[in-house]
Amino acid sequence: MAKKQFKAESKRLLEMMINSIYTQREIFLRELISNSSDAIDKIYYKALTDENLTFNKDDYYIKLTVDKDNRTLTISDTGIGMTKEELENNLGIIAKSGSLAFKNENEAKDGHNIIGQFGVGFYSAFMVADKVTVLSRALGGEEAYKWESTGADGYTIDEAEKASVGTEIILHIKPNTEDDQYDEFLEEYRLKSIIKKYSDFIRYPIKMDVTTHRPKEGSEGEFEEVKEEQTLNSMVPIWRKNKSELTDEDYENFYMEKRYGFDKPISHIHIKADGAVVYNAILFIPEKTPFDYYTKEYEKGLELYSNGVLIMEKCGDLLPDYFSFVKGMVDSEDLSLNISRELLQHDRQLKLIAKNIQSKIKSQLQSVLKDDREKYEKFYASFGRQLKFGVYNDYGMNKEVLQDLLLFTSSKEKKLVTLDEYVSRMPEDQKYIYYAAGESVDRLEKLPQTELVLDKGYEILYFTDDIDEFAIKMILNYKGKDFKSVSSGDLGIEPEEGDKDSKEAETANKELFEEMSRLLAGKVKAVKASKRLKTHPVCLSAEGEVSIEMEKVLNAMPS
Ligand code: ADP
Ligand code: MG
Repeated sequence: MAKKQFKAESKRLLEMMINSIYTQREIFLRELISNSSDAIDKIYYKALTDENLTFNKDDYYIKLTVDKDNRTLTISDTGIGMTKEELENNLGIIAKSGSLAFKNENEAKDGHNIIGQFGVGFYSAFMVADKVTVLSRALGGEEAYKWESTGADGYTIDEAEKASVGTEIILHIKPNTEDDQYDEFLEEYRLKSIIKKYSDFIRYPIKMDVTTHRPKEGSEGEFEEVKEEQTLNSMVPIWRKNKSELTDEDYENFYMEKRYGFDKPISHIHIKADGAVVYNAILFIPEKTPFDYYTKEYEKGLELYSNGVLIMEKCGDLLPDYFSFVKGMVDSEDLSLNISRELLQHDRQLKLIAKNIQSKIKSQLQSVLKDDREKYEKFYASFGRQLKFGVYNDYGMNKEVLQDLLLFTSSKEKKLVTLDEYVSRMPEDQKYIYYAAGESVDRLEKLPQTELVLDKGYEILYFTDDIDEFAIKMILNYKGKDFKSVSSGDLGIEPEEGDKDSKEAETANKELFEEMSRLLAGKVKAVKASKRLKTHPVCLSAEGEVSIEMEKVLNAMPS
């Protein structure tokens, strides 16, 4: 068959990957093992839910085979396999997720960072192999196909023979060069340690014929070399393990392995609940927003397992919208395998789990806020807006959950503060929580309306995000203190000179004020003498519920 070209973007990525000086080549194995595991998950699930299929647990495994003479490493699995079309579609172009995330990881300009940390699925095979052969037979068919590629120049697909359903990936390991060593990927001990590091929790056995030495029969002190099949992974899923056995690195590896994100999460939550509802969960709070996060395309949700079997990839009902950034998985024995999406929505167990998870996320965020402010502020830069939307969208119903997680820039040192920090250092005579809404802190600082408040030594929250003021309107008050815009008519501050001056000013300049009103007719409601200005000659002030800034946002909204 004629060689087919890879789609353009995969070609670019492949070339970059192959050419980059790459320190963590070993992750190719994690990628291929995880694909095999996914493929076995699929067939396992089919067998559990389809009466016509019967399998033994022993039927599911992944096997590594090393052939040093031919320099090949083969990863075979008894998974669901791929049809000819699937070979074309799945291996011929880069999975959507991979390529998009790649484009958005702008910071890692040279590319090798991204690959180094996250891998790009199947393609990572080309980091260690100069030729990759994939032999696959899909469930339900007799025919098998062979996909072969030597890298960026394309691939071929031909008919082939394969005795059983599943996939075999044969990596033709590159020869060593002066700068790069590849021999290690043909060494048993090295493969063993890579599996232990990245794939220990894979639920199916990863087997390999390992060379061992045993005393030679009939001779003293002599040993002979034998091959013995060993299972390299412990197969205990990470969420079933004890937290004490696990390191931060284990969780981070899991996050990457699972492709929850391409960043390094700021925090993880490992839940082992055995109260009213029994479940295990591992949740992550990402640091960076996924590229589509603030778009309609973004789909929230956690992976849902029933007793170790993946039943849903994105269960949205487990997360409230305001925590839609959370990634991770939930495994519960109390859920049925065959449950449909619709039934799941009404599942009592699931509701309990969701509620539980929500409060765990909240307290985790609070403890990050308390213990590692810098980390929290990174998180907040990515997802703070979502929290504020959360307050606003539900008409303040969730303000109890969210208000203590909010940060705003304060006039004091221009640092981010919580509402609690603001209120707890308010002078006794301060009645309100003051805020000023506008485009940027720089501009707000120059706002004449802030003068009097700042002069009194009161702090002002600078709202520079258009959602800020809307969210605050939903919170209404915090610890008994109402919010007050610095541009509102009554600031609740007694001016030192009293009312007399402004009254006098108004009578004395009656004509001037009338003329100004006439000129600004339709633009302002009234022109009055102000009690709040110090150095500025004039300022705008609002009387109603809607501030000038909010009006701007509302006017800009498509109606
Ligand atoms: P991802 O795993 O993120 O989807 P990959 O590049 O790792 O991306 O794999 C692409 C696709 O190829 C997989 O989604 C799967 O459909 C298919 N695939 C890869 N390896 C196997 C395998 N061993 N068995 C069956 N399908 C596979
Ligand atoms: Mg994969």
